[in-house]
Amino acid sequence: KRFRMGELKGWPALDANLILIIEVILMFAILTMNATDQILAERGVEKYVLLDGLFFSGLIQPLFVGMSDSALIFTERFAWWFHIVGILGFAIYVTYSKHLHIFLAFPNTWYSNLKPKGEIGNMPEVTNEVNMMLGIQPEGGASEAAPAEIGRFGAKDINDLSWVNVMNAYSCTECGRCTAECPANLTGKKLSPRKIMMDVRDRAEEVGKSIDAGGKGLEDGKSLLGDYITKEEINACTTCNACTEACPVNIDPLSIILQLRRYVAMEESGTPAQWNAVFQNMETSFSPWKFAPTDRFNWAEKVKEEQMEK
Ligand code: SF4
Ligand code: SF4
Repeated sequence: KRFRMGELKGWPALDANLILIIEVILMFAILTMNATDQILAERGVEKYVLLDGLFFSGLIQPLFVGMSDSALIFTERFAWWFHIVGILGFAIYVTYSKHLHIFLAFPNTWYSNLKPKGEIGNMPEVTNEVNMMLGIQPEGGASEAAPAEIGRFGAKDINDLSWVNVMNAYSCTECGRCTAECPANLTGKKLSPRKIMMDVRDRAEEVGKSIDAGGKGLEDGKSLLGDYITKEEINACTTCNACTEACPVNIDPLSIILQLRRYVAMEESGTPAQWNAVFQNMETSFSPWKFAPTDRFNWAEKVKEEQMEK
């Protein structure tokens, strides 16, 4: 199912197919080079040396055994040049394609979040403001205090995300393992963590190309939230972390979803009305429910008492 989802239609599918076809052709070129090389070596042609262990090129040798020496030399040279020029061309193409992940997977893994999964970071802007309200000096001294003008809470567009978030997007292999594990997606919601990563990359590309062309860049009237990712998608996330656990290169779609949701909650007050009771309870009871966290297991005590009475 993950290979047939809507986000793969168009360029992503074409890109993936092109990569596959180019790789098959380049592999066939090098196998052809080795196969013809070895036939020439077996015939004792000068400068060609018999080698051991060329198993796969040995499999296609029968395709060339009927050729003359000169035709074999031409084929061997052509395959060599085709392969080397093809590899160089492919290396350039890779920088424009999702295949960039083969280079970015290493730094992406290096900079991945090593904190316990499920630990949701505080927002320093909010922590500083609360500290100031309570008269607590920020940890780093006065210089760490909240700036005079507070920036945006959460993220609305690509420039609000961290560079690691953007590197995550360019490192995505579009394999869909995250989406295949996502409980929201599995239960028919619109959310697909793979699409979140693809949207971040597409928006970064759009803004980058616009700036390169002397266009409006971020001021083009569009934004990541709204034009690429909808509230319906981010609201469907259960923050379960299954996507980050499933990703082979430690990409964290949840971090982006949380930042977008923080923007909606703190800048637009646009969260669904049903959530307001939860926010209020957290403010007053430090718990999503209408009672204190210390009373959370009262129900278990009650069950125990009922069982004792039986
Ligand atoms: S954290 Fe959100 S996006 Fe990731 S798997 Fe869970 S529900 Fe899906
Ligand atoms: S599992 Fe990771 S690499 Fe694969 S689609 Fe999801 S975010 Fe991208």
